Amino acid sequence: MVGVAAATAASAWIMQAFFDAISSPGNRQKIMLVAGAVALTFLVRGAMTYLQQVMLAKAGNRIVAQIQTRVFGKLLRQDAAFFSATDSSDILMRVTQGAAASRALIDAVVLGLVRDLLTFVGLLAVMFWQHALLSVLFLIVGPIAALGLRVILARVRNVAGKELTSVSEIYKILQETAAGVRIIKTFHLEGLMADRMTTAVREVERRQNAMVRLQSITVPMLDVLAGLCIAGILLISTTSLAGGTTTSPGQLMSFVTALLMAYDPARRLSQTRVQVEAALVSVQLVFDIMDRQEVLTEAPDARPLPPPPHEVRFDDVVFEYQGGKRALDHVNLTCKAGQTIAFVGPSGGGKSTLLNMILRLQDPTSGAVTINGMDLRAATTASLRAAVSYVGQETFLFSNSVRENIRLGRREATDAEVEEAARVAQAHDFIAALDQGYDTPIGENGAFLSGGQRQRIAIARAVLKNASILILDEATSALDNLSERGVRDGLRALTQGRTTIMVAHRLSTVIHADRICYLEEGRVVEEGNLEELLAMGGRFRALFESSALTE
Ligand code: ADP
Repeated sequence: MVGVAAATAASAWIMQAFFDAISSPGNRQKIMLVAGAVALTFLVRGAMTYLQQVMLAKAGNRIVAQIQTRVFGKLLRQDAAFFSATDSSDILMRVTQGAAASRALIDAVVLGLVRDLLTFVGLLAVMFWQHALLSVLFLIVGPIAALGLRVILARVRNVAGKELTSVSEIYKILQETAAGVRIIKTFHLEGLMADRMTTAVREVERRQNAMVRLQSITVPMLDVLAGLCIAGILLISTTSLAGGTTTSPGQLMSFVTALLMAYDPARRLSQTRVQVEAALVSVQLVFDIMDRQEVLTEAPDARPLPPPPHEVRFDDVVFEYQGGKRALDHVNLTCKAGQTIAFVGPSGGGKSTLLNMILRLQDPTSGAVTINGMDLRAATTASLRAAVSYVGQETFLFSNSVRENIRLGRREATDAEVEEAARVAQAHDFIAALDQGYDTPIGENGAFLSGGQRQRIAIARAVLKNASILILDEATSALDNLSERGVRDGLRALTQGRTTIMVAHRLSTVIHADRICYLEEGRVVEEGNLEELLAMGGRFRALFESSALTE
């Protein structure tokens, strides 16, 4: 860029030699020299421009790639609370728009502020060298233009912010349409969704038009100012020439050339400023994520968990969600190695929150969750993840083959091991009956499979993982009888010999648990085995006798 700027300034400066040479046409040798210099200057300028563009694009692409990698890494290190509090469409918008805006910003800053500024300064130097007095006149335009620009910039910030809100709305509508297609069809909401989309799209269109108007207004604004200024300078300069001062026609020509050339980068600079302002609004969105604290990081002195069997304890655990909502209130619990402990209680009692603690998707606000006496926060992430496996209500499957989905439990498992796990989970028979057996693609989040089948695949995944602690969130939705029995048998095989901590909704599961905890408003209000709790005649008994637990 320095090369481009220097070559540009040189081409204006050469005008003096060129015109002085023309004024004395006898000197052929000098004219040849000047012509050669002009050719050389433009050659250098062309080569430098090429180099600068390629290098800048490379750097820009690299920076965008780095930002996306870093922001994704940051997202992976956020806890469950972050993801439940943030719309996924919002995350999507931040990462895509933000990265694109960073790119625009880099281009604008580097191209504009560096190349144009260097070029402008170089040309200004030529102007001052050739005619200092007139150059000062030219500079008067600067402050006037800056004043106008300030008003425009404030508007730009405002419009850019509103535009992003609308873009985010578009992402949200798209996402909800894909996820909620059943509801949209059955309740005939196509018209509603189409209207929402039209509103959002029109809004973005409007904002973008406003942005173009703002960016374009800088051009006529400067044009008028510069036109007046250049006309004035021309008038004064010819008078000073006629007045017979020391200025030569060559000098004056060189000055005017530099003046006209300087106008272009000056105009671009003012536009750059507007672009920078608009891009900054988007870039800010990415950095909101980048600057977030990483909550679930590994302690610097983390050690691996002790070997299994594993006992899980809650020591006076309190957990509050952002905003102070207390979900766990001084919970003390021991889940003995190899035993199954079932949590029951009303919705909102804190059962899921409790499971999240053991999975270390959230850390306690106070107190500690320990495995064999070791605080989860002191354990290495790898050893913790290896020790605990999870089967949830909503079984999340990746759009991949059945085999690959099961293999996620242990990525180095052989095909035979995958099949063995599927047999244990009562999934082998239905998988074998699929079109392509284990290689059948299952669609986005298992769209081609039934609820019971999805669940048995999730169980197979956990069987393959063979972790010593199992966290289970029992499905509330009724499965059909056949797959229900399959799922139940699969689960029973899975819990064998493992420390199992589960949220139970079924009578059959509760009956088989070694211990039962009744959780209400974040507190364990009743605890014991089935006989003890029934004998107590309290809340659990009432639940047991009502039909709240499904068969
Ligand atoms: P359960 O699983 O027993 O139905 P939860 O553990 O889901 O109960 O919820 C316990 C309490 O914490 C509830 O009052 C619920 O409203 C609140 N809660 C759950 N998740 C969040 C969240 N992400 N932000 C704020 N409050 C939450």
